[in-house]
Amino acid sequence: MNGKIALITGASSGIGEATALRLAADGHHVVLGARRTDRLAALTAKIRADGGRAEFRALDVTDLGSVRAFVTSAHEAHGRVDVLVNNAGVMQLSTLDTLRIDDWNRMIDVNLRGTLHGIAAVLPILRAQGGGHVVNVASTAGLRVDPTAAVYCATKFAVRALSEGLRQENTDVRVTIISPGFTHSELADQGGDPETQAAARAASERLGIPASAVADAIAYAVGQPAAVDVNEIVVRPTVQT
Ligand code: NDP
Repeated sequence: MNGKIALITGASSGIGEATALRLAADGHHVVLGARRTDRLAALTAKIRADGGRAEFRALDVTDLGSVRAFVTSAHEAHGRVDVLVNNAGVMQLSTLDTLRIDDWNRMIDVNLRGTLHGIAAVLPILRAQGGGHVVNVASTAGLRVDPTAAVYCATKFAVRALSEGLRQENTDVRVTIISPGFTHSELADQGGDPETQAAARAASERLGIPASAVADAIAYAVGQPAAVDVNEIVVRPTVQT
């Protein structure tokens, strides 16, 4: 069969779900991970009904063992792993003086440690097979800092930094940073200061682009030949300042 073995974290909604649909439509075999396995089961069934190849596994990116099991089981089943999309993320906004330390730690655990766990799980496999692709979903919040988003921005700046380090250290592994702007998803639905989150939700609903637009950017990077590494794509609404 043609197509790559493409693993996607946070595939139960938003950008991850759209990426699963797009990569499957492009002929890749997608392996979907997230905590809400009912969503993953429904998405897997939809992809298969459309003639695509998909499977899923429960995944918590904050748990290194869970991430290793996600990657290892796919590797054992298919004999290789071609792409890991480190997409799982949370955004829990508030000003620093409100000291929502649990929210800070959650963002660090999911957005930063989760991405590092993905790299730790997949890098030995990619090196052993002589190639592969890590796609890290950062954000325009990794390019500029705004009030209420200091910790979220810090995690996304960090994802961009470690992606660049990963790229420099591995000449046989492709590394892509995807930096979306406002995108329709469930990102602002949980945690954070309620008023701030509501404002972020309203802005996203007003300005946001569909998650499929970000999935298209990921599919473009994945679809390039092995010798071509698309290092970063920023994709945001035309109206976003
Ligand atoms: P969603 O909230 O719709 O999706 C987030 C995904 O992450 C869900 O599938 C969720 O699955 C998963 N997730 C959260 N925590 C964990 C965990 N501990 N383990 C495994 N999976 C987890 O938001 P988006 O689609 O918008 O977010 C995807 C990425 O895009 C994030 O990294 C986000 O920061 C980034 N981004 C989004 C932007 C936007 O405007 N929407 C803009 C810029 C970047 P589950 O809850 O089932 O585990």
